[in-house]
Amino acid sequence: MISPSPLSWRHQGRVGRWAILALLLVPATAEARPFGPPEQNAFAQAAAYWGRSPTQCRVVTGEVVPAGSLRDPSASGEATVPPASGEMIDCRVWVVEGLTPLGLCFTMRHEYGHLLGYDHDAPEMAEEALACPTGAAEVERFRRMVRRQRQRCEKLRRQGAPPKQKQICWDNLGFAKDELRKVEAELSGD
Ligand SMILES: [Zn+2]
Repeated sequence: MISPSPLSWRHQGRVGRWAILALLLVPATAEARPFGPPEQNAFAQAAAYWGRSPTQCRVVTGEVVPAGSLRDPSASGEATVPPASGEMIDCRVWVVEGLTPLGLCFTMRHEYGHLLGYDHDAPEMAEEALACPTGAAEVERFRRMVRRQRQRCEKLRRQGAPPKQKQICWDNLGFAKDELRKVEAELSGD
C-alpha cells in the first residue's frame, strides 16, 4: 500500500538526487523491487496532480522493474485499469528502472490516470496535459511570484495604504523570496 504524502514541486531537486542514488545502488542484474523514495514521491505528486484517489483500488502496489520487461517492452510504465463495472480490485503500478526525474513524474501521472480508470483515448491522458514542470520552470514561476508581490507592495506605498496593510505585503514578499531562494538552491544542487 502506498500512502501518498503531500510533497511540493520544489522538492524535485532532492527527488532527482534520490533517483540517481537509487540508480547507483541497483545491481547490474536488476530485478523487480518495491517503490523506493523517488517512486513514492512521484506517486504522491501524481496523486496531488489528479487530486483524487483511485476509488476502485483496495490497495495499490508499486514495483520498479528492469527496462524492457513490461508487456510493451518500449513502455516506461504500466498500471491496472479498474473495470468499468465498478468492481473493487487490487491495483498495481509498474515503472521501469532508470527514468529521469521528469520521466518518472510523467510516467507516474500517466499510470495514476489508468488507476482512476482512464484509457489512452481520454483527453486527460494527453501527453501535453500530463507534462511535468521542470525545475527551471518552477524557479521561473517563483520569480514571477516575487515580481508580482513587489509590484503590489510598491503600489500600496504609492497609494499611501495603512501601515498594517503595507507590512503584510512586505512580509509576504519576504516569504516569496525565501521560497525562490530554496528552489534556486535545489536547482543548482546545493
Ligand atoms: Zn498507458
